[in-house]
Amino acid sequence: MSFETLQLKPEILRAVATCGYSEPTPIQARAIPEILAGRDILATAQTGTGKTAAFMLPVLQRLSEVRRGPKGAPRVLVITPTRELAAQVTDATRNYGRFINLRSAVILGGTPYVNQYRDLGGPLDLVVGTPGRLIDHLERRSLNLSRLEVLILDEADRMLDMGFKEDMEKLVAAAPATRQTLLFTATLDKTMADLAGQMLREPVRIDIAGKKVTLEQIEQRLHVTDCLEHKKRILHHLASDPTVTRAIVFSATKRDADALAVELAASGHRAAALHGDMPQGARNRTVRDLRQGRVRLLVATDVAARGLDVNGISHVINFDLPMAAEDYVHRIGRTGRAGASGVAISFVSRSDVPRLERIERFIAQPLPQTVIAGLEPTRPLHAPRGARPGSGRPGGARPGTGRPGDRRESSNRWQKSAPRDRREPVVEMRSRKPGARPTAR
Ligand code: AMP
Repeated sequence: MSFETLQLKPEILRAVATCGYSEPTPIQARAIPEILAGRDILATAQTGTGKTAAFMLPVLQRLSEVRRGPKGAPRVLVITPTRELAAQVTDATRNYGRFINLRSAVILGGTPYVNQYRDLGGPLDLVVGTPGRLIDHLERRSLNLSRLEVLILDEADRMLDMGFKEDMEKLVAAAPATRQTLLFTATLDKTMADLAGQMLREPVRIDIAGKKVTLEQIEQRLHVTDCLEHKKRILHHLASDPTVTRAIVFSATKRDADALAVELAASGHRAAALHGDMPQGARNRTVRDLRQGRVRLLVATDVAARGLDVNGISHVINFDLPMAAEDYVHRIGRTGRAGASGVAISFVSRSDVPRLERIERFIAQPLPQTVIAGLEPTRPLHAPRGARPGSGRPGGARPGTGRPGDRRESSNRWQKSAPRDRREPVVEMRSRKPGARPTAR
C-alpha cells in the first residue's frame, strides 16, 4: 500500500516523502482512513509503530482544509503524559506539516507562562501539552476548548499511571461533545477500557500492540565495554568501517558530543556535533551537511536529534545508552527507515546493566552481543556472583557456552570471531532472558 491510496493531500504527501517514508505502517494504513472519515479511534500501539503520523497526518489534512479558529481556541488538542513526548509530537507536527500554514502552541509544565499566554492569545490551530499545565490554562481561561474539533490522548495508559486521570477527564469535559476523540495506549486494562468507554463514541478498535515495524528492519548489536578508553577505541574502529556510510553517534552530554566529534575529526573523519547549546543556525547547517554527505558521523544528544529526519542513516551508535527505554527505540528508528535496513550498535558497561535490561524488556528481545577481534572486553558484563552487591547474576560464568542470538560476524570485514574463553561476556549473558528482571540480592 502507498500513502497516495490514503486520500491525503499533495502537501501532506510531499512532507511524508521528505521524511523518507515509502509506505504507511500498519497503524497508519488502518487509522488514517478512519480518522479522515471522522471516526473515534481506540488504538493499542506502542512507540515505534508510527502512531504519531497515524493521527497527525489526517489531523493536519483537516486543519489545512478549514480556516483558523478564534483566539485562544484551538481546533486540535494533543495531550501527552510527558514533556519529552510532547516535544516529539511537536517535532513530528513540524515535519509532517512543513508545507501547511499552521499555528501551533506547546503548553508544558516547568516552562514560563509568559510565552504560553502569548501563543494562546493568538489564532491557533493546534495545541500539544501535558495535562497539569493545560488544566492551569483552562482554569485561568487562557485556554478555551469550546471549539475543539479533535482531541488526541497519546499514551493514555501512561497518563493514568502518572495520576492524570482527573485532569484528563476535566479536559475532555471542557471539549464539545461533538468532538472527534483519538485515544492511543500501549496497554488496555479494565481501568483504561472504562476511561475509553467514557470518552469515545463508537470507536474503531485498532490493535497494533507489539508490532514495532521500525525495529524489524534494524539489526541490533551490543558491544560490552570496559571503560571510556575502550569505548573510544571501538568507536574509532567503527568510524573506519566503510560500511558505515552515514551514522549518528549518541552521547549522554553536550560536552561529550563536542569532544567526540573533535576527536573523530582529528582522526580524519567527517564528523560534527549536534546539541542544544549550538545556535539554531549552526544546528541547521550541521543537519544539512549530514543530509548532503559533507558530514558522515554526527555526534548528537537525544534532544538535538529528536525529529531529525535524514535518509540513509546506515548506523546508529549508542556511545552512551539512553536513560529511557523509549528513547532507545527513537534513536535506533533514525536508521532502517523507508524500507532500508540499518544497524544499531550499543556500547554497554557493567554500570549500564539496569538500563540495558529496561531496554530489552521494552523491545521484548535481547540485544545480541558482538565482539571485535582485538577489542574484546576484559571482563564479562555481569560481575561474578558475590563480586558486587546487586550487580551479579545467579549462576556465574559457565565456560564454553554461548548466548543464543550471540552474533559473531566473520562475514563482516571488521568483525571476526573472537575465541571463547572465560573472560567473554557471552558466557554469562546466556542466563539473561528477555524480560527477566534484575535479581536484587
Ligand atoms: P512513532 O511510533 O510515532 O514514535 O514513530 C516511530 C518512528 O517511525 C519515528 O522515527 C518515525 O519517523 C518513523 N516512521 C513513522 N512512520 C513511518 C513510515 N511510514 N515509514 C518509515 N518510518 C516511519
